[in-house]
Amino acid sequence: MRVLTEGGAASEGRPGALSALFEPRRVALVGASDQPGKMGELFWRNLSSFPGEVVPITTGAASVAGRKAYPSLLDVEGEIDLAVVVVPAPAVPGVMRDAAAKGVRAAVVITGGFAEAGPEGVRLQEELVAAARQGGVRVVGPNCFGVQNCDLPLNASMATGEPLGGGGITLATQSGAYGMAIYALGLDERTRFAKVYAAGNKADIADGEVLRYLRQDPASRTLCFFLESLPDGRAFYEEARLTTPQKPVIVAKTGRSAAGARAAQSHTGALAGSEAVGRAAFEQAGIVQARSGLEMMDVARALDAQPPPAGPRIAIVTNSGGTGVELADLLGEEGLEVPELSAELQAELRPHLPAFASSRNPVDMTPVWTRFAELYPFLVERLARSGEVDAVVPVLLQRSALDDKVALALRDTVARLRAEGVEVPVYVCWVAPRCARANADLLQEAGVPCFEWPERTARALGHAVRYGQARVRVGLPRVFPSRPAGFAALGAGLVDAETGARLLATFGVPTVESVTCRTAAEASLAADRLGYPVVAKALHPDLVHKSDVGGVLVGLGDAAAAYQAASNLLALVPGGEVLVQRQANGIEVVVGGIQDAQFGPAVMVGLGGLLVEVLGDVAFALAPLGQDEARRLIARLRGFPALTGARGREAVDLDALAAVVCAVGNLLVAVPEIAELDLNPLFATGRECVAVDWRVLVGNPPGQDHAIGGNWTAQGGAARSLSS
Ligand code: ADP
Ligand code: MG
Repeated sequence: MRVLTEGGAASEGRPGALSALFEPRRVALVGASDQPGKMGELFWRNLSSFPGEVVPITTGAASVAGRKAYPSLLDVEGEIDLAVVVVPAPAVPGVMRDAAAKGVRAAVVITGGFAEAGPEGVRLQEELVAAARQGGVRVVGPNCFGVQNCDLPLNASMATGEPLGGGGITLATQSGAYGMAIYALGLDERTRFAKVYAAGNKADIADGEVLRYLRQDPASRTLCFFLESLPDGRAFYEEARLTTPQKPVIVAKTGRSAAGARAAQSHTGALAGSEAVGRAAFEQAGIVQARSGLEMMDVARALDAQPPPAGPRIAIVTNSGGTGVELADLLGEEGLEVPELSAELQAELRPHLPAFASSRNPVDMTPVWTRFAELYPFLVERLARSGEVDAVVPVLLQRSALDDKVALALRDTVARLRAEGVEVPVYVCWVAPRCARANADLLQEAGVPCFEWPERTARALGHAVRYGQARVRVGLPRVFPSRPAGFAALGAGLVDAETGARLLATFGVPTVESVTCRTAAEASLAADRLGYPVVAKALHPDLVHKSDVGGVLVGLGDAAAAYQAASNLLALVPGGEVLVQRQANGIEVVVGGIQDAQFGPAVMVGLGGLLVEVLGDVAFALAPLGQDEARRLIARLRGFPALTGARGREAVDLDALAAVVCAVGNLLVAVPEIAELDLNPLFATGRECVAVDWRVLVGNPPGQDHAIGGNWTAQGGAARSLSS
């Protein structure tokens, strides 16, 4: 066993390729032009703010905007770090061959017409990548919007103008046009970016590698990923686990619905991933999961500007009772609290408030507009320092939003809180006409995010609180189990009951005492040994759901009953066997595992038995996972109270159940040829957690190194379903 402390992974190290991309010294624009309306001209203009040299490459002219142009990269003297490529698709592989021969370190291919455009495009894209790899050129795109390093500045993208530097948000987007829209929205809302990266078809550089680079990039403080697909799900997960304790990772993943998945396929040639496992992986890695690009930018603004809330207690300061209550409702739906303030604090606030005001929380000052500029900053500061709440939300509505004295005073208050080390964030809920926008801009530029209306405010706050909680737990070390010494490869197919029980025992998963019998006489002897009552089950390789055909007989009280049951079962499955088991009791739970095509080994826990599919009360997590993670996973089940003694039932030993979940995870990691595994049910009581039915399906041996970040994609995928 190898203990891996998060943050100390062997894969850590400064990745050079992406620094050539974001921090080049010399750039070539392949397809440069000075004719308005041409892509080459747009990029030439956008690159004009770059402080280093930009070399124009074109076969169409001897010079571009008065600068000597070269027919190919090979004709340029001296080194080129980055090539920005806008020539038509059929010419791109040739450009890549030149780039490889020239020793160019990175290329951004803007041109479309590759994998997103049908079989010929797929072929062309393969040719492009092969040519680039000949010389170690790392490729962004093709079919992308480009990249920006806003601080340099480097604008190698379709967005016009010189990027504003000094921001901490970095946006990585798969969709070019949507990315541009998000970027423009961000600028509208006075959001400053550090870097922008448009992945396009992701022919070469995968998301995990981008995440690793951004983790190590001090300028990128808040990372946003707008994703349509995530082919390297596992690598992304591992990188995210290392990142979220340091800086937030916010993902908006489209293609969650069936229709969305179809659109994603035809759009970027990407397959939408397995959602349940993907969402579980994101949650486990502490990734903020935004439902949309808009929500992603809202959370990014909240988390980039101020420290995340340390807990779920929110104070609301408002001049409108209705808005305050709506916000409180929506915060409640996010799982947050709007606690009533202590009697002492209320007594302290009340003398400052008008007679009809409420000091309870929401603190409602009522529309005393002549006092807004005094009351808002006073209340926000007092609440932030009270120790009774984890975030303060002033609702700026109509007159309070229109008054620039309120905005200025709030800005100064927040600056003072930060300067004096008060970590409680202040987010504004903005409900105001457009003509008040300048005041929101003023606040936003000073790092006080304003969210339009209670709905957006509550969403952003919910994510911010969950991130604040996740970042302290994600960094816990995990243990990666290795294959036991001398453990032979398992043959493909369904593992028989006895071998399965031994395999499970090796990893610490208890199975109920069982004996495989060929005759009724053997069965009655076995029953005597096990002690009554016993259970008898028909065993046959073709029989998947035993109880569906009357193949499970429970409550057998003596040798005669066991004998009779076994004869009946043997008649039911000619050529089969009978499994005799001790009869267990308790609550039926299910624990399963799969090798997910995108995310690698994953476990599932749920309320089990025959109704598992009907109820669908299951939760997934990636393996390996620690005892604490397993406990949290179990607690996420809707039916969790049934395990903790609801309605006079015996409370289940949750540590024993969590240990089984961890053990199944370890088994999947250590024996990667297991494609699927099902323990359904396990009987859980206050004393034990024992499987009475288990199925283990072995897929084709992966023949792959299963180290962290290895290619999990080679495993699973084709496994047939084992759910019982
Ligand atoms: P299958 O899933 O193939 O139908 P199971 O072995 O899961 O067969 O048995 C079906 C049901 O019978 C279980 O969900 C459980 O309720 C009950 N059962 C099976 N084995 C035992 C046992 N050893 N002790 C108590 N109940 C059992
Ligand atoms: Mg079963």
